[in-house]
Amino acid sequence: MKAAVVRAFGEPLVIEERPDPEPGPGQVRIRVEASGLCHTDIHAAQGDWPVKPNPPFVPGHEGVGLVEKLGEGVTHLTVGQRVAVPWLGRACGRCEHCLSGWETLCEQQINTGYGCDGGYAEKMLAWADFAQLVPDGITPFEAAPLTCAGVTTYKALKVADVKPAQLVAISGVGGLGHLAVQYAKIAGATVAAIDVTDDKLELAAELGADLVIDAREENVGEVLKKHGGAHAAIALAVNESAFSAVNSGLRRGGKLVMVALPAHGTVQVPIFDTVLNGTSVIGSIVGTRQDLAEVFQLHAAGRTKVIHETRPLAAVNESIDAVLQGQVKARIVFDLGAGR
Ligand code: NAD
Ligand code: ZN
Ligand code: ZN
Repeated sequence: MKAAVVRAFGEPLVIEERPDPEPGPGQVRIRVEASGLCHTDIHAAQGDWPVKPNPPFVPGHEGVGLVEKLGEGVTHLTVGQRVAVPWLGRACGRCEHCLSGWETLCEQQINTGYGCDGGYAEKMLAWADFAQLVPDGITPFEAAPLTCAGVTTYKALKVADVKPAQLVAISGVGGLGHLAVQYAKIAGATVAAIDVTDDKLELAAELGADLVIDAREENVGEVLKKHGGAHAAIALAVNESAFSAVNSGLRRGGKLVMVALPAHGTVQVPIFDTVLNGTSVIGSIVGTRQDLAEVFQLHAAGRTKVIHETRPLAAVNESIDAVLQGQVKARIVFDLGAGR
C-alpha cells in the first residue's frame, strides 16, 4: 500500500510503498477512501509544537474508509462498514477525564497521525472502539472534514455555551472556520466571520455569516465592539495577533475559545481588561466520540455543508503549500481510491 510519510520535520513528505499493516487486538484495518488535510498535519510535519511526533510517521486524522480486517476481540464492527478515524485514536477509558465525559483530555490518549500512523495512506489501522461509524448518506469526502474540522468546531461552540441571540466571532474561515460558521448559525447565534482573504470572506457570507470582517483592513476588536461585542470568539486563525484582535472584541463576560495552534504560540492577555470585563480564556481540543456522532447526525440531516476539493495523495506537498498560502477554499481531501 502507498502512504505519504514524514521522514524529517520541515521536509517534503515522501510517498512510500509499505506492507499492509496488521491489526492487533482491538484494532481494525481500514481501506481508506478519503483523507482530509487538516492544518494540524502541517504542524505535525514541521514539528511545530512542544510535544512532537517521531519521524518517520504517516500524518492524517480525517481518514474515512471501509473496514477490511478485524483484529482479535473486535465484535461490534463488521468488514465493509464505513468508519472515520479521528485525532482521538484511543483513550484509556478509566481515568477521571474518560469517566467524566472528557476523554479528549485523557493523559494516556494516542493521537492518529501523530502518536501512531494516520490516514495519508491507502490502508490504516484504528482502535475499533474509537473508529466512528459513518451514517448512510454521507460520502467519505464529506465525512473526512467532519472528522476533525467538524467535531472540533462543534465542540468549541459547546464549550463557549453559545445561546441564540448571542454574537459569535469566528476568527479564521478555513477548514475549521467554514464549519464553525454553520454550527454557530445552528446554535442560533448572530455570526461575525473574520479572515484575511476575499474568497474566505465570500464563503463565510455564503454559509450564513451575518457580518464579515476583513482583518487586513478593519480593526476587528472595534468592529465587534460596534456590534455590542462578542459573547464568544472562536480563535481558528493560525496567527497569534488574530487571537489578541478577537479577544479585544469580546463584550463583558465574553469567552475567548482558543483552538488554533500556531507554532510556539503565546498571546498577551491584558489583565486589567480581563478582570474588569470578566472575560474568560478557554482552550478547546477536538471533541469526543459522542460529539462526532452528533456532527455526523447534523450532516446526515442536511444541516451542514462540507466545502472540499479532492486531490490525489501524490499531490500532498503542493496541497500543503496551497493551505499555507491561503489558496484553498476550505478543505482539501485526498482521494485514496483514485489509484486502485
Ligand atoms: P486553515 O489553514 O484551513 O485555516 C486557517 C484560516 O485562518 C485561513 O482561512 C486563513 O486565511 C485564516 N487567517 C490567517 N490569518 C488570519 C488573521 N490574521 N485573521 C483572521 N484569519 C486569518 O487551518 P485549519 O485546518 O482550519 O486549522 C486551523 C488551526 O486549528 C490550526 O492551527 C490547527 O492545528 C488547529 N486545530 C486545532 C484543533 C483543536 O482541537 N484545538 C483541531 C484541529 C485543528
Ligand atoms: Zn485536525
Ligand atoms: Zn483516560
